[in-house]
Amino acid sequence: MRTDVSPALVLHLRGPVLLGPDQEIPEVWVIDGRIRHERPELPAGTDIQQIDGYVVPGLADLHCHLGIADGGGGTTLEAARQQALTDRDTGVLLIRDAGSIIDTAPLQQQPDLPRLIRCGRHLARTRRYLFGYADELEPEELPAAVTREAGRGDGWVKLVGDWIDRGVGDLTPCWDAEDFHVAARAAHHAGARITTHTFGESTLPLALDAGFDCLEHATGLTDETISRTAEAGVPVVSTLVNVGEFESYASQGEKKFPDYAAHMRRLRAGRYDRTRDAHDAGIQLLAGTDAGGVLGHGIIHDELDEFARAGLDATTILDAATWAPRRFLGVPGLEDGAPADLLVLARDPRTDHHALRERSHVVLAGQIVA
Ligand SMILES: [Zn+2]
Repeated sequence: MRTDVSPALVLHLRGPVLLGPDQEIPEVWVIDGRIRHERPELPAGTDIQQIDGYVVPGLADLHCHLGIADGGGGTTLEAARQQALTDRDTGVLLIRDAGSIIDTAPLQQQPDLPRLIRCGRHLARTRRYLFGYADELEPEELPAAVTREAGRGDGWVKLVGDWIDRGVGDLTPCWDAEDFHVAARAAHHAGARITTHTFGESTLPLALDAGFDCLEHATGLTDETISRTAEAGVPVVSTLVNVGEFESYASQGEKKFPDYAAHMRRLRAGRYDRTRDAHDAGIQLLAGTDAGGVLGHGIIHDELDEFARAGLDATTILDAATWAPRRFLGVPGLEDGAPADLLVLARDPRTDHHALRERSHVVLAGQIVA
């Protein structure tokens, strides 16, 4: 289903316009869906809408699942569209989909939805993940599967790196060191980047050794892997709202898997310290919610509140949700000529991240959508 958008409109945004953490300009114009730093030549009588407020790039959710229903299972394409609209209306205008059950590519043709960068199906070891979510495979099938998903997605492949091993009764890596290498080589050979879902401590050195480009959740970061991740320049998508749910995984597994339950509780308890330590060590944190499946959509602001609980300052939080993910994904922010995907705020988000909840306008491709 395609929703028609209203005809071209010229906006004059009287900022400050925040181009980066330390860079602002007083005003921009929006014409033909694009940002202009200089006032464009306009025919006499052009209708210009003046808007005052702090201008920031649209928020990004770097770990989101469109097409996975609340409570699990695939959705219809229309329901996935509604999830994207829910996210959009909270100010999320850029989504990196971290694995979907359905093919969400048709959503990319819908101009009223956030920009979507997909990783295709995520890849998991047989019987080592939530049933029915991912493509399940064995090590010998990895190279072909990674190559296939690299071709189906938008430059990203996701490998589920660890999960509960019921034989061991705890989190263990799903793959050995060579498998991580093989997967990374196949992704890079296909011109894609590769990320991994990881909760446990012992998976991180394997992913880092193999040259993975990003880490999802990364609750198992230690002093050693924090410095290695920082040194490698690999960003971490924290999904702290999801890590907060580890208590429910722990209590569900408690009877049969007491070590796993205790491990999950330890990881949860350390989540704020680990996040702050990662930031302090120079790791780029990126905002991601893990919405879809267990958590509903539209929760980006809860994730930003979690960053604040971890002790990150407002500018760092803003960076993790706007400029940094755009740079990382190669998507422009508020540069001259960039697509006008932006938010207008009543207050300065560099001093209080809650200002991002109080949007006066959400502008997507130059159209005011919320
Ligand atoms: Zn996820």
